[in-house]
Amino acid sequence: MSGKQTRLSFWGVRGSTPTVDPATWRFGGNTPCLELVTPDGTQFILDCGTGLRMFGNSWARPGDASGGEAHIFVTHYHWDHIQGIPFFAPFYSEKNQFHFYSFRSKFLGRNSLKQVFEAQMALPYFPVDFSAMPAKRKFTELSDGDSLSIQQTKISARLLHHPQGCLGFRFDTPSGTIVYATDNEPGDPGLDQSLRELAAGADIFINDAQYTSEQLAGPRKGWGHSSWAEGVKIAKEVGVRTLVLFHHDPDSTDRIVDDRLRQARDHFDSVYAATEGMVLTLGGERVEVLLPGSRSAMRGEAHFRAVVAGTTEDGQSFHEETSVRNLSLQGALVYLKHCPRLQSELEVTMETPRPNGTGSMRLRGYVVRIEPGEKQGQTAVGVVFTE
Ligand SMILES: [Zn+2]
Ligand SMILES: [Zn+2]
Repeated sequence: MSGKQTRLSFWGVRGSTPTVDPATWRFGGNTPCLELVTPDGTQFILDCGTGLRMFGNSWARPGDASGGEAHIFVTHYHWDHIQGIPFFAPFYSEKNQFHFYSFRSKFLGRNSLKQVFEAQMALPYFPVDFSAMPAKRKFTELSDGDSLSIQQTKISARLLHHPQGCLGFRFDTPSGTIVYATDNEPGDPGLDQSLRELAAGADIFINDAQYTSEQLAGPRKGWGHSSWAEGVKIAKEVGVRTLVLFHHDPDSTDRIVDDRLRQARDHFDSVYAATEGMVLTLGGERVEVLLPGSRSAMRGEAHFRAVVAGTTEDGQSFHEETSVRNLSLQGALVYLKHCPRLQSELEVTMETPRPNGTGSMRLRGYVVRIEPGEKQGQTAVGVVFTE
């Protein structure tokens, strides 16, 4: 990573409760946790959902004598945003230090977040208590409208429309602006305006997209969440560069998320659905997006002639003859001259040898990985099949 970039990694993207249903594995089942590293090397952690555990395993570098430091912004105290705390390995080393930022809950009073820590790590809910965590901790309470600077980054906090409250955060880094606005529901004029001010001109706007407009108008009204359509509306109104649909409902399968993303892309050009392992990089001409390789690990050398149909980065449909190079039950690797859009639908029609000549097999899937191909002008495209 070059020193001028800001890197945002998604460790948990699921709302409300973690999922282990295989129908949700492509986008991921861990609850909210994001890691933000700014050009000056400052590390921020946004929310402490179950995604925090996996992050902790990569954060704790064995043998690192000097210890580490991070600034942790907790949006609110619902389970899905704090449940990873007891399982974050770096909290158990006295060499590390953490600065926590959150708000004073009217239900908890002073030192709300500290109380959440203590209550969560209490018998009989957890086998060891709070004192087992020797890392240095400092707690700061933020209120609606507060801002502060940490190294070269300015952070602003705004209250969002959510039961028992939730803070949205804006990070103005030297290489761009990231706005994290999970858990918010449209419909309160004052707070709607506040969210727009927070998101104004952001390079990356991460917004709650748990429900559809229909659900928000009906049975899910008042539950404190938003929709892809609302995210698109705000993004257009306030000049956001890239929108990320976040806090997927635990009942939303990958296909449901695919479908919402497709609809959002019909209305706004640069939209992605938050995916566990996804990394966004800011600092160049465009927001770079990378999806995890491990999730699309392909096995089995193959060589089937195939026709691939899809949509390019700039929205043009294409048909191309190629061959499928790696094939598994879940997906394939194909080399293309066209560069399809990440998370877009791809149709692969393969020639398959049959006893009486050749037949063909048509598979549909989604682009999960894009890398430079073996030859110049070629793209290696990882696709996960869904039907
Ligand atoms: Zn939540
Ligand atoms: Zn919540």
